[in-house]
Amino acid sequence: MSIISKDISKAIKLLNNEELVAIPTETVYGLAGNIFSEKAVSAIFATKKRPSFNPLIVHIGSKDWLKEIVTHIPEKAQRLADVFWPGPITLVLPKKEIIPDNITAGKSTVAVRVPNHAVTLELLKNIDFPLAAPSANPFSSISPTQPEHVESYFKKDIKMVLDGGPCKSGIESTIIGFEDDEPVIYRLGSTPIEEIEKVVGPIKIKNKKEVSPDAPGMLERHYAPKTKTILTDNLTKSIKSHSDKRIGLLIFNDIHNDDNIQFKVVLSETSNLDEAASKLYDALHQLDEQELDIIIAEQLPDYGLGKSINDRLSRATKS
Ligand code: AMP
Ligand code: MG
Repeated sequence: MSIISKDISKAIKLLNNEELVAIPTETVYGLAGNIFSEKAVSAIFATKKRPSFNPLIVHIGSKDWLKEIVTHIPEKAQRLADVFWPGPITLVLPKKEIIPDNITAGKSTVAVRVPNHAVTLELLKNIDFPLAAPSANPFSSISPTQPEHVESYFKKDIKMVLDGGPCKSGIESTIIGFEDDEPVIYRLGSTPIEEIEKVVGPIKIKNKKEVSPDAPGMLERHYAPKTKTILTDNLTKSIKSHSDKRIGLLIFNDIHNDDNIQFKVVLSETSNLDEAASKLYDALHQLDEQELDIIIAEQLPDYGLGKSINDRLSRATKS
């Protein structure tokens, strides 16, 4: 029997009972549990096989909750919350004592956001605790953007995937930390850096090694298909040099000649970066099912969401 269901009251019951429920968000599906339940939080790490040094994002139902969770809200953090929440921006701020150490991997800061999905906002309204909800995939594999992706990963491990349809944004939230009250980007994501700069001015992107401790979104290899995958800025040349293989293509718009190609996914016929982001992980799931020798992914334009997609593709193609 399928574990996918639209029954919010069943999800509420499970969560109140310290069990896990996969929940829809606008970015990817999350594997959610009560942040105050040690049982639920341990189950999140165990189910995902996620190393315990990787902190979890706390999901709250409204920005009013923020002051209950963090000790200090810099002016620019408040501005970002006011403009972008509910939405795919995660703020990392100094935690209050009530936030358990297993959520933050022992760090003194906590990552928090308000997800923009009607079903999950309704769910959060009806429970009296925030939800820890990392992506609902085994550690380092392709993130889930449809209920079926979660079911195929975890049907033996969890009782329910709350069905909210396909995720609209399709890649993880943009994570922003603060240094001397000034925002810095820890992870590129669904909110383009250009939009953030309109609100808080020029912002620095920290490279992976500068953000400590190493966290999943920061690891070199992540979001990876099982099939060998390469990233290229010269499609024709890469196809030629693998002409003896069963090739799958992940491309932005389209190419004129695909003679040697076994399977191809076009992210956006109209070169729309929003559409490309929303289709990215499902495309990788599909390609990974085709028994190919190699997946050749095309680099996208390096601005707006293209920058975030390129970040994910470069990690997915690290060996
Ligand atoms: P996920 O929920 O799987 O998208 O991953 C959560 C991400 O949030 C991690 O990869 C970290 O990069 C980031 N994160 C969570 N808490 C913190 C924190 N206290 N400091 C820095 N980064 C954090
Ligand atoms: Mg993840």
